[in-house]
Amino acid sequence: MQNYKHCIAAFTLALLSLPLAQADTLANIKAKGVLVAGVKDSLPPFGYVDAQTRSIVGYDVDFVRAIAAKLGVKLELKPVTSANRIPQLVSGNIDIIAATMTKSPERAQQIDFSHAYFLTGQKFIAPKGTLRSLKDLEGKRIATAKGSTSEQNVKRAVPSATVLSFDDYPQAFLALRQRRVTAITTDEAILAGILAKAPDKTAYEIPALRISDEPYGLGMRKGETAWVAFVNQTLLDMEKSGEAKRIFDKWFGPQSDAPIKRDFVISAAR
Ligand code: GLU
Repeated sequence: MQNYKHCIAAFTLALLSLPLAQADTLANIKAKGVLVAGVKDSLPPFGYVDAQTRSIVGYDVDFVRAIAAKLGVKLELKPVTSANRIPQLVSGNIDIIAATMTKSPERAQQIDFSHAYFLTGQKFIAPKGTLRSLKDLEGKRIATAKGSTSEQNVKRAVPSATVLSFDDYPQAFLALRQRRVTAITTDEAILAGILAKAPDKTAYEIPALRISDEPYGLGMRKGETAWVAFVNQTLLDMEKSGEAKRIFDKWFGPQSDAPIKRDFVISAAR
Protein backbone atom coordinates (compact mmCIF):
# COMPACT_ATOMS: atom_id res chain seq x y z
CA MET A 1 0.00 0.00 0.00
CA GLN A 2 2.78 2.35 1.01
CA ASN A 3 4.57 1.57 -2.23
CA TYR A 4 1.44 2.12 -4.25
CA LYS A 5 0.95 5.55 -2.66
CA HIS A 6 4.54 6.36 -3.42
CA CYS A 7 4.03 5.42 -7.04
CA ILE A 8 0.95 7.63 -7.36
CA ALA A 9 2.78 10.52 -5.73
CA ALA A 10 5.78 10.10 -8.03
CA PHE A 11 3.52 9.85 -11.08
CA THR A 12 1.56 12.98 -10.10
CA LEU A 13 4.79 14.88 -9.56
CA ALA A 14 6.08 13.78 -12.94
CA LEU A 15 2.82 14.89 -14.60
CA LEU A 16 2.91 18.26 -12.84
CA SER A 17 6.44 18.96 -13.90
CA LEU A 18 5.82 17.89 -17.50
CA PRO A 19 4.49 21.20 -18.85
CA LEU A 20 7.34 23.04 -17.14
CA ALA A 21 9.99 20.68 -18.47
CA GLN A 22 8.57 21.05 -21.97
CA ALA A 23 7.80 24.76 -21.76
CA ASP A 24 8.95 26.61 -24.82
CA THR A 25 7.74 30.17 -24.46
CA LEU A 26 9.06 31.24 -27.86
CA ALA A 27 7.11 28.47 -29.65
CA ASN A 28 4.03 29.13 -27.49
CA ILE A 29 4.00 32.86 -28.28
CA LYS A 30 4.21 32.10 -32.00
CA ALA A 31 1.46 29.47 -31.70
CA LYS A 32 -0.96 31.72 -29.80
CA GLY A 33 -0.06 34.78 -31.92
CA VAL A 34 0.34 37.08 -28.93
CA LEU A 35 3.15 38.21 -26.65
CA VAL A 36 1.91 39.00 -23.13
CA ALA A 37 4.14 41.54 -21.39
CA GLY A 38 4.01 42.75 -17.78
CA VAL A 39 4.54 46.53 -17.68
CA LYS A 40 4.11 49.41 -15.26
CA ASP A 41 1.01 51.56 -15.86
CA SER A 42 1.69 54.65 -13.74
CA LEU A 43 5.40 55.37 -14.26
CA PRO A 44 6.06 57.86 -17.05
CA PRO A 45 8.04 57.61 -19.25
CA PHE A 46 8.51 53.82 -18.79
CA GLY A 47 4.91 52.61 -18.71
CA TYR A 48 1.82 54.80 -18.18
CA VAL A 49 -1.68 55.31 -19.52
CA ASP A 50 -1.77 57.88 -22.32
CA ALA A 51 -4.49 60.42 -21.52
CA GLN A 52 -5.71 60.60 -25.13
CA THR A 53 -5.61 56.97 -26.27
CA ARG A 54 -6.17 55.35 -22.84
CA SER A 55 -3.56 52.74 -23.75
CA ILE A 56 -0.30 52.01 -21.95
CA VAL A 57 2.73 53.61 -23.60
CA GLY A 58 6.37 54.23 -22.70
CA TYR A 59 10.00 53.26 -23.07
CA ASP A 60 9.50 49.73 -21.68
CA VAL A 61 6.42 49.27 -23.86
CA ASP A 62 8.29 50.23 -27.05
CA PHE A 63 10.88 47.50 -26.42
CA VAL A 64 8.30 44.73 -26.05
CA ARG A 65 6.41 46.20 -29.02
CA ALA A 66 9.56 45.80 -31.14
CA ILE A 67 10.00 42.20 -29.92
CA ALA A 68 6.35 41.39 -30.79
CA ALA A 69 6.79 43.01 -34.21
CA LYS A 70 9.88 40.90 -34.92
CA LEU A 71 7.91 37.79 -33.96
CA GLY A 72 4.97 38.92 -36.11
CA VAL A 73 2.53 38.59 -33.19
CA LYS A 74 0.18 40.94 -31.33
CA LEU A 75 1.20 42.57 -28.06
CA GLU A 76 -0.92 42.32 -24.92
CA LEU A 77 0.05 44.49 -21.94
CA LYS A 78 -0.70 43.53 -18.35
CA PRO A 79 -0.01 46.02 -15.55
CA VAL A 80 2.33 44.70 -12.84
CA THR A 81 3.78 46.14 -9.64
CA SER A 82 7.34 45.88 -8.38
CA ALA A 83 6.25 43.22 -5.89
CA ASN A 84 4.09 41.04 -8.15
CA ARG A 85 6.03 41.10 -11.45
CA ILE A 86 8.21 38.03 -10.72
CA PRO A 87 5.29 35.93 -9.33
CA GLN A 88 3.19 36.95 -12.41
CA LEU A 89 5.99 35.72 -14.68
CA VAL A 90 6.75 32.51 -12.80
CA SER A 91 3.05 31.55 -12.67
CA GLY A 92 2.78 31.96 -16.46
CA ASN A 93 0.44 34.98 -16.50
CA ILE A 94 2.93 36.94 -18.58
CA ASP A 95 5.68 35.92 -21.04
CA ILE A 96 8.09 38.74 -20.24
CA ILE A 97 8.62 41.54 -17.69
CA ALA A 98 9.37 45.02 -19.08
CA ALA A 99 8.78 47.02 -15.94
CA THR A 100 11.67 49.22 -14.74
CA MET A 101 13.22 46.07 -13.32
CA THR A 102 16.83 46.01 -12.23
CA LYS A 103 18.89 43.06 -13.32
CA SER A 104 20.21 41.93 -9.93
CA PRO A 105 22.09 38.78 -8.88
CA GLU A 106 19.37 37.92 -6.28
CA ARG A 107 16.61 38.10 -8.90
CA ALA A 108 18.75 36.14 -11.37
CA GLN A 109 18.39 33.16 -9.03
CA GLN A 110 14.64 33.16 -9.75
CA ILE A 111 14.40 34.37 -13.34
CA ASP A 112 16.58 35.01 -16.39
CA PHE A 113 17.38 38.48 -17.69
CA SER A 114 18.06 39.94 -21.13
CA HIS A 115 21.01 42.23 -21.74
CA ALA A 116 20.51 45.57 -20.00
CA TYR A 117 18.37 47.95 -22.10
CA PHE A 118 18.46 50.98 -19.76
CA LEU A 119 20.78 52.32 -17.10
CA THR A 120 20.00 54.54 -14.14
CA GLY A 121 20.82 54.85 -10.44
CA GLN A 122 18.96 55.35 -7.18
CA LYS A 123 18.38 58.88 -5.85
CA PHE A 124 15.82 60.80 -3.75
CA ILE A 125 13.12 63.45 -4.13
CA ALA A 126 12.87 65.87 -1.20
CA PRO A 127 11.44 69.35 -0.63
CA LYS A 128 13.92 71.90 -2.04
CA GLY A 129 16.92 72.65 0.16
CA THR A 130 16.15 70.00 2.80
CA LEU A 131 18.41 67.12 1.71
CA ARG A 132 22.15 67.70 1.33
CA SER A 133 23.65 64.42 2.55
CA LEU A 134 22.47 61.01 3.71
CA LYS A 135 22.89 62.31 7.28
CA ASP A 136 19.76 64.43 6.75
CA LEU A 137 17.80 61.18 6.43
CA GLU A 138 18.99 59.52 9.62
CA GLY A 139 16.09 58.46 11.82
CA LYS A 140 13.62 59.86 9.24
CA ARG A 141 10.80 58.25 7.26
CA ILE A 142 11.50 57.49 3.58
CA ALA A 143 8.91 56.19 1.09
CA THR A 144 9.49 53.76 -1.78
CA ALA A 145 7.82 50.73 -3.45
CA LYS A 146 7.41 47.21 -2.10
CA GLY A 147 9.53 44.52 -3.70
CA SER A 148 12.01 46.97 -5.24
CA THR A 149 15.77 47.15 -5.11
CA SER A 150 15.17 50.75 -3.94
CA GLU A 151 13.71 49.37 -0.71
CA GLN A 152 16.76 47.19 -0.04
CA ASN A 153 19.34 49.80 -1.08
CA VAL A 154 17.92 52.56 1.11
CA LYS A 155 17.76 50.26 4.15
CA ARG A 156 21.45 49.58 3.61
CA ALA A 157 22.38 53.22 2.92
CA VAL A 158 20.43 54.70 5.86
CA PRO A 159 19.91 51.89 8.42
CA SER A 160 18.41 54.23 11.04
CA ALA A 161 15.61 55.41 8.72
CA THR A 162 12.10 53.96 8.68
CA VAL A 163 11.25 52.79 5.18
CA LEU A 164 7.57 52.95 4.18
CA SER A 165 6.86 50.72 1.18
CA PHE A 166 3.91 51.44 -1.13
CA ASP A 167 2.52 49.49 -4.10
CA ASP A 168 4.13 51.95 -6.47
CA TYR A 169 5.98 55.25 -6.57
CA PRO A 170 3.08 57.66 -7.24
CA GLN A 171 1.64 56.65 -3.84
CA ALA A 172 5.06 57.19 -2.26
CA PHE A 173 5.21 60.68 -3.79
CA LEU A 174 1.74 61.43 -2.42
CA ALA A 175 3.04 60.55 1.05
CA LEU A 176 5.82 63.11 0.55
CA ARG A 177 3.41 65.80 -0.62
CA GLN A 178 1.36 65.12 2.52
CA ARG A 179 4.61 65.44 4.54
CA ARG A 180 4.19 61.95 5.96
CA VAL A 181 7.78 61.20 4.89
CA THR A 182 10.99 63.23 4.56
CA ALA A 183 11.89 61.92 1.10
CA ILE A 184 11.05 59.29 -1.48
CA THR A 185 13.62 57.11 -3.17
CA THR A 186 14.00 55.03 -6.32
CA ASP A 187 15.76 55.18 -9.70
CA GLU A 188 16.56 58.70 -10.87
CA ALA A 189 14.81 58.25 -14.23
CA ILE A 190 11.58 57.27 -12.44
CA LEU A 191 11.88 60.17 -9.98
CA ALA A 192 12.45 62.63 -12.84
CA GLY A 193 9.34 61.27 -14.61
CA ILE A 194 7.21 61.66 -11.47
CA LEU A 195 8.48 65.16 -10.77
CA ALA A 196 8.00 66.32 -14.36
CA LYS A 197 4.27 65.56 -14.12
CA ALA A 198 3.75 67.01 -10.62
CA PRO A 199 1.78 70.29 -10.50
CA ASP A 200 3.91 71.51 -7.54
CA LYS A 201 7.24 70.32 -8.98
CA THR A 202 9.07 73.58 -8.21
CA ALA A 203 8.78 72.80 -4.49
CA TYR A 204 10.91 69.63 -4.88
CA GLU A 205 14.29 68.54 -6.16
CA ILE A 206 16.42 65.47 -6.83
CA PRO A 207 19.66 66.14 -4.90
CA ALA A 208 22.97 64.75 -6.24
CA LEU A 209 22.97 61.75 -3.88
CA ARG A 210 23.26 58.52 -5.84
CA ILE A 211 23.26 55.32 -3.79
CA SER A 212 23.31 52.58 -6.47
CA ASP A 213 23.55 51.58 -10.14
CA GLU A 214 20.37 50.12 -11.63
CA PRO A 215 20.69 48.39 -15.02
CA TYR A 216 17.25 47.36 -16.34
CA GLY A 217 16.75 43.91 -17.90
CA LEU A 218 13.74 42.20 -19.46
CA GLY A 219 12.71 39.26 -17.26
CA MET A 220 11.92 35.76 -18.53
CA ARG A 221 11.26 32.41 -16.86
CA LYS A 222 14.34 30.38 -16.06
CA GLY A 223 15.67 27.90 -18.57
CA GLU A 224 13.92 29.43 -21.63
CA THR A 225 17.11 29.39 -23.66
CA ALA A 226 15.54 29.96 -27.09
CA TRP A 227 13.30 32.78 -25.84
CA VAL A 228 16.13 34.57 -24.01
CA ALA A 229 18.39 34.23 -27.08
CA PHE A 230 15.65 35.66 -29.32
CA VAL A 231 15.08 38.64 -27.02
CA ASN A 232 18.81 39.32 -26.67
CA GLN A 233 19.36 39.15 -30.43
CA THR A 234 16.44 41.54 -30.96
CA LEU A 235 17.96 44.01 -28.47
CA LEU A 236 21.37 43.83 -30.16
CA ASP A 237 19.74 44.30 -33.59
CA MET A 238 17.80 47.30 -32.24
CA GLU A 239 21.02 48.86 -30.99
CA LYS A 240 22.75 48.27 -34.33
CA SER A 241 19.90 49.63 -36.44
CA GLY A 242 19.51 52.75 -34.29
CA GLU A 243 16.01 51.76 -33.19
CA ALA A 244 17.03 51.49 -29.51
CA LYS A 245 18.45 55.01 -29.62
CA ARG A 246 15.35 56.34 -31.39
CA ILE A 247 13.19 54.88 -28.59
CA PHE A 248 15.48 56.48 -26.00
CA ASP A 249 15.30 59.87 -27.76
CA LYS A 250 11.52 59.62 -28.04
CA TRP A 251 11.14 59.32 -24.24
CA PHE A 252 14.27 61.03 -22.88
CA GLY A 253 15.36 63.36 -25.69
CA PRO A 254 15.52 67.19 -25.50
CA GLN A 255 11.80 67.59 -26.24
CA SER A 256 10.77 65.17 -23.44
CA ASP A 257 9.50 66.10 -19.97
CA ALA A 258 12.72 65.09 -18.21
CA PRO A 259 15.58 64.93 -20.73
CA ILE A 260 18.65 62.80 -19.96
CA LYS A 261 21.81 61.83 -21.86
CA ARG A 262 22.15 58.29 -23.21
CA ASP A 263 25.41 57.20 -21.57
CA PHE A 264 25.10 53.49 -22.41
CA VAL A 265 24.72 51.18 -25.38
CA ILE A 266 22.97 47.81 -25.37
CA SER A 267 25.65 45.13 -25.58
CA ALA A 268 26.20 41.47 -24.77
CA ALA A 269 28.61 42.59 -22.04
CA ARG A 270 25.87 43.73 -19.65
N1 GLU B 1 14.68 49.34 -10.71
C1 GLU B 1 14.31 49.10 -9.35
C2 GLU B 1 13.76 47.70 -9.16
O1 GLU B 1 13.74 46.95 -10.05
C3 GLU B 1 13.32 50.13 -8.85
C4 GLU B 1 12.16 50.39 -9.75
C5 GLU B 1 11.03 49.40 -9.56
O2 GLU B 1 10.60 49.16 -8.42
O3 GLU B 1 10.55 48.89 -10.56
O4 GLU B 1 13.36 47.31 -8.11
